[in-house]
Parts: sequence; structure tokens; C-alpha cells
Amino acid sequence: MKESNRELPVLYLVVPCYNEEEIILKSASVMRDRIRGLISSHVIEKSSRILFVNDGSRDNTFNLLADAARKDDIFIVVSLVGNTGHQNALWAGIMTASKADIIITIDADLQQDINALESFIECYKKGAEVVYGVRNDRNSDGTFKKLTALTYYKLMQVMGSRVLKNHADYRLISRKVVDALKEYNESNLFLRGLIPSLGFPSDIVYFDVKERTGGESKYTLSKMFRLATDGITSFTITPLRIISFTGFITMLFSVGFSIFSFIEWIQGKNVPGYTTLLLVTLFMSAIILLSLGVIGEYMGKIYIETKNRPKYLIDCVICRETEEE
Ligand code: UDP
Ligand code: MG
Repeated sequence: MKESNRELPVLYLVVPCYNEEEIILKSASVMRDRIRGLISSHVIEKSSRILFVNDGSRDNTFNLLADAARKDDIFIVVSLVGNTGHQNALWAGIMTASKADIIITIDADLQQDINALESFIECYKKGAEVVYGVRNDRNSDGTFKKLTALTYYKLMQVMGSRVLKNHADYRLISRKVVDALKEYNESNLFLRGLIPSLGFPSDIVYFDVKERTGGESKYTLSKMFRLATDGITSFTITPLRIISFTGFITMLFSVGFSIFSFIEWIQGKNVPGYTTLLLVTLFMSAIILLSLGVIGEYMGKIYIETKNRPKYLIDCVICRETEEE
């Protein structure tokens, strides 16, 4: 294993991009200036790079990035065959950045404050192997995003998943962490939960979130929902326990209700019929269907995991030194 250079590390900034043609060039130039600045002030090594992962964009993102990479060797483009999703794109970037001592992942829209990079690296130099970027507030988000995010973190907490509140995927990881991650082969990737669970010494950097300057959020509601379920199902089986618990409680309830009905019957009273029957049936069917859904969710996950398919396929890598197709 290569001993990483803590004094003057090689940094790879990993940036997943999906249909970001409107802002990608602006982001790229801001990132380049920042990285060049860090190189000239001897914070990072001069062979540090910005690695864009083109996550199967259907717009002009790839061409814009490829042009940039052909002109300037600070940029590298790894283009994936299809759209694999944010988490897999991050994984692809992390796994390809083999020359890096440290990797910082950041979104292409530059909503996350790029000036925090220096603080990330400072924490690393002081000994942290993981540095989490945590956002100060959610003022730049719409009400809907705020609400879903809040519910999400609450739910994760209740379910016992180890995630840091208001930490998205803006973080630094060292070579040690990358090597550890390589041992994890899960297809249902949820880095925000996986990385804390590794247990490396970590630190936190707080930063401000800006509004998106162009384009729209690529996290559709269904993608957000998938990320949320992945976050829960890949780390905890609490939902399955909740089902067993609900089953147990309904069993107690039905025993009680049976005894009550039986006594009523012996006493010759009229047991209330239609409404009770209807409510109990509806209630039970709902619980059964919901439980089946949760079990099905886990079963689906097992199915996907056993197939052990690759998380991404690389179409081409573009950089000035070696252009591979
Ligand atoms: N992204 C990606 N693949 C996807 C969806 C998103 O690579 O399928 C990238 C996107 O280009 C951006 C980052 O993931 O760099 C975060 O997405 P976005 O800014 O749309 O999410 P939000 O900030 O709204 O949560
Ligand atoms: Mg964003």
C-alpha cells in the first residue's frame, strides 16, 4: 500500500455530472482556479487533478468536458456508459482516482462552497482520514426539499442508520479509506452511511450552501425516494423488526377481542357485526400489504446483491497525457 503524503498530498477533486451543460464550464473554471491556487500556495501537490465523472449525460456535458480536458491537463474526464446515479458515479470517480492521496467529492453545480476545500485539507493534515462537509442551513432549499430532507434524517435516526445530519456527499477521504472501500462490494451503495460505518478518525467542516446557478436539480422525487430507501435498507433491518412487532401487537389485540366477543356471545348479546368486520379486515389487509412491501424491498435488495453486477461501466477516459478510448 502506498503511504500517502500528508504534508503535500495529491488531491483529486471528484465531480459527478449528469446533464449539467448549462453550468459545467463555469464550475470547471472556478474549480480550476481554486485547485491552481492551492497548488501555488503549496497546500497540495502539483499533480492534483479535477476528475469529472460523466454519468451518462444526454446533453452536451460530455463534449464540453472532453474539450476542457484536451486543452488543460488539470482536467480528467471519466465517461460512464449510461446513467448509473449519483452514488455510483461517485464510486466510479473514487475508484478511478488511483493516483490520489486524498479525494474530495463535490457536486457539479457548485452549491457547496468550494472555499471550504482548504479547511478539509487542513483537517486531513492534522490526522483525519475522513472530513465531512456539513451545511450550515437549508435557506437555499425550497420548502419541499427542506421538508423531505428533515423527514429523511429523522427517519434514518429512528431506523438506526448512522448518517450525519445535513451532510451530503461533500467530503474528503484519504487513500486509506479508499483502500478500505474497495473491500465493500455492495451494489446498493449509500456512501453517506457506509463511510461513517468504517470508523476512521474523522472531522467536520461547516460550509454554506448556495443556490444552483443554472440547470435544475437532477434528484427527481423518485431518485430521492430510492436514495432514502437505500439508506435504510442497506444499513438496518429495523423495518423487518417493526413488522414482527406489529404482528405481535395485532395478535394480542385479536386475542383480547376474541375473548370479548365470546363473552358477549355467551351472554346472548348481539355482537356488533358488519362495521367491526369491515374495519378489522381493512386494517389487517393494509398491515399485511405494507409488510409484504417492506419484505419485498429487502428481498429485491438481496436479489440485486447476489447478481453482483458492476456498479458502473467506463466508456472512455479523456486526459491530455494519455487518451484512452
Ligand atoms: N448526479 C449524477 N447522476 C444522477 C443525478 C445527479 O451524477 O443520476 C450529479 C449531479 O450532476 C450533481 C450531483 O450529482 O453534480 C448532485 O445532484 P443535484 O445537484 O441535482 O442534487 P441536489 O443538489 O439537488 O440534491
Ligand atoms: Mg445540487
